[in-house]
Amino acid sequence: MQIYRLKINKNTCIGCNICVTSCPINFNQLKEMGYLTQENAVILVKNGMAYDIFTEGRTHNCDGCGVCIKFCPVSAIKLELLES
Ligand code: SF4
Ligand code: SF4
Repeated sequence: MQIYRLKINKNTCIGCNICVTSCPINFNQLKEMGYLTQENAVILVKNGMAYDIFTEGRTHNCDGCGVCIKFCPVSAIKLELLES
């Protein structure tokens, strides 16, 4: 199983939230639970900055689909493959 970590460029991120709303896993969690939290989200925006939810050596649930990267208007997101 491939394990990814999101790398968000703090110098370019404008906190627009598009990555959060475009992530299909976040979308599924929202559909099931009605909200996103530190427990179920892959990526969130806090204080105007996107950050990944990184626990126990991985960005949980991120499947590396690249949708957030495609939609980020300032190309602030990269994916790092931690393990394959
Ligand atoms: S889409 Fe890009 S600019 Fe917008 S919050 Fe996410 S990382 Fe930041
Ligand atoms: S790569 Fe895909 S699964 Fe991972 S945070 Fe981005 S949109 Fe979500």
